[in-house]
Order: sequence, then structure tokens, then C-alpha cells
Amino acid sequence: MTQAPRPNAAFKPRIFSGIQPSGGLTLGNYLGALKRFVEKQDEGIETIYCLVDLHAITVWQDPDKLRQQTREAAAAFLAAGIDPKRSVLFNQSQVSAHAELGWIFNCVARLGWMNRMTQFKDKVGKNSENASLGLYAYPSLMAADILLYHATMVPVGEDQKQHVELTRDIAAKFNHDFGVDFFPAPEPVIEGAATRVMSLRDGTRKMSKSDPSDASRINLTDDADTIAAKIRKAKTDPEPLPETLDGLKDRPEARNLVNIYAALSGKMPEAVLAEFAGQGFGLFKPVLADIAVATLAPISAEMGRLMADPAEIDRILGEGADRAEPIARPILNRTLDILGMVRRG
Ligand code: ATP
Ligand code: MG
Repeated sequence: MTQAPRPNAAFKPRIFSGIQPSGGLTLGNYLGALKRFVEKQDEGIETIYCLVDLHAITVWQDPDKLRQQTREAAAAFLAAGIDPKRSVLFNQSQVSAHAELGWIFNCVARLGWMNRMTQFKDKVGKNSENASLGLYAYPSLMAADILLYHATMVPVGEDQKQHVELTRDIAAKFNHDFGVDFFPAPEPVIEGAATRVMSLRDGTRKMSKSDPSDASRINLTDDADTIAAKIRKAKTDPEPLPETLDGLKDRPEARNLVNIYAALSGKMPEAVLAEFAGQGFGLFKPVLADIAVATLAPISAEMGRLMADPAEIDRILGEGADRAEPIARPILNRTLDILGMVRRG
């Protein structure tokens, strides 16, 4: 980019992040995103969290399932520790300014930038002709999600880093093209031992809630037996665990399990290896399964309790949207003014 991103000193610290209700949430979503969302809220920073349903429909969703998945994702946020009084929690389509700013950013983002987005390429594979236009434009809507709140920090997993960088480029180009200092340059916040949890079936692919193989992921709603069985069957190699991280270099599946254990136990991956060096997966996998079950069981039990009252979840999301709207609307209106749109009143 030609334009240096502006410093964020003029903007108050504000966090925005989202998760697509495109399926049930996974251990990857929990470790890479949700757990961090709760930490940021508990640090006392202003936090805005969104179930990005407009992103979910970039691939076809069954309407009844989408509704269910949105409520279930909201239940996961609440069960993990998001407090709807301290954080703003809502679903994207209830605040129409997201789609409006998304369109504006479609006119700012360049095709050359979008063509470099690796996630689009990963998602469509060889079938790009058949992908929706929305899937291609997804990162520019994501930029709108973030910049609509003048957010300065975006906690995400490693896979979303490129999209947050694109958001910075869009902000800088808008500011430059219109000679303003209006949008901040948000920082990706990528923290923890499991910023990219990999598939249990293929250590070179990331764990995803939309992966057709359920065995590739641990869902937050999986019961103890299912979690243990998935970890037992997780792809590994016959070697014992090495003493140093260097020894995991060409062993993506082994490295993944070590990282997951580290993130769940709050230890550094080096410390995990110091504990388990020389042990095979026959011993390591059951220990990993135990800690995964111990972490997820209370979350899944609380999700079950919350899901028994969907009207209450809808009420919480509605209230969140009511709190998001007065932050978003003035920023959108100011953007329209900057663009030269005639507005009433
Ligand atoms: P989809 O397959 O529909 O894209 P997803 O599992 O990739 O679903 P998203 O809704 O796209 O989930 O991402 C929500 C958040 O979870 C983002 O911050 C993303 O970086 C993070 N995330 C997703 N997958 C992982 C993973 N495997 N490891 C760590 N973080 C992840
Ligand atoms: Mg994703």
C-alpha cells in the first residue's frame, strides 16, 4: 500500500470480532477466538462481538439450520463467559449498516487485493466459477464490520490475519481518496498457543466448522465419548514426542496435538514437550482427551441449558443490536457525508 496506516491514537481502544454461524463452533473457534474474546472483555476493554450471519450465507445455508446455528453460537458465547451487559453481542443482519458500509467498501477495495486472499482460494479450490460473488467479496464486508465501529483491535485466529490487513488497506485507501483521517487502522490480535488449530484428519488443513468431515474437528457440543474417540482416531505418526519444538517441524499432526494440549492447559508447548518427551501417542492422546473434555463439558452443559430458551437468546441478541446501532449509524452517516451522498435532515 502506498498510504501509511494512520496511528490509532485519536481513537479510543475498542475491540470488534465475529464468528460465522455457518455450523457448530469448534475447538479451533474456541481456542483461537472465543476464549480470547472473553479475556479481552475481562480486561475491561470495550468489546463488540457479532455473529456474522451475512457472512455465513456466502455459502448456501438451510434457513432453519441457520437460525438454529445462530442461536447455538450465541449460546456458546454466553456459556464461554461473554456477559451481554459488559460486551455488545448481536447478529450482524440486525444492524443493516454492516451491509451498507460493505457495499461502499466494495467500491474501495481493488480486485487485485481480493485476488490475493488465500482463504477464498482455499475455500473454492478448483471450483471458483461456481463460488458466490459474496464469498469473493467477504473480506470487504469484514472490513465494514470492523470499521463501522472504528474498532482498533481485532482478536482473531491466524487464518484471519490477511483479512484484517486488508481492512487496514481499505481504511487507508478511503482516508487517502477522500483526504480524511476518518477510519482507524485496526490491529489483528493473535495470541495464545493455538492460533491455528489444525484438522484432526490432516495436519496441513485448519480445523473448520464447515469442513464436511465431522471427524476433522471437535465441536463444542460433542460429548465426552465423542471427544475421546475423535482424539483417539486423530491422525498422528508412530514416533514418540520429541524433546524440543524443532523435533515437531515436519510432524504437523503431532505439533497440532501438542499445541492444543498447551492451549488447554495454559502451558507453553516447550513445557508440554518437557513433560511428555519420549512418550508415544498411546499415552498422550488419552491425557489430551481428558483435558479437552474437562474444558468443554461445562461449556456444552451451559449451552444446552441456554438453548432450552431460544426466546431469551433472541432477546439478548436484539438488545445487543439495539446497543450496536447507535455506535454504527453515526459512523455510517458520516461516511455517506464524506462520499457526497445527499441525505435528509
Ligand atoms: P468456516 O469454515 O465457516 O469459515 P471457521 O471455523 O473458519 O468456519 P470462522 O467463523 O470463519 O470459523 O472464524 C471465526 C473465528 O475463529 C476467527 O477469528 C478465526 O480466525 C477463528 N478460527 C477459525 N478456525 C480456527 C482454527 N482452526 N484455529 C484457530 N482459530 C480459528
Ligand atoms: Mg473461516
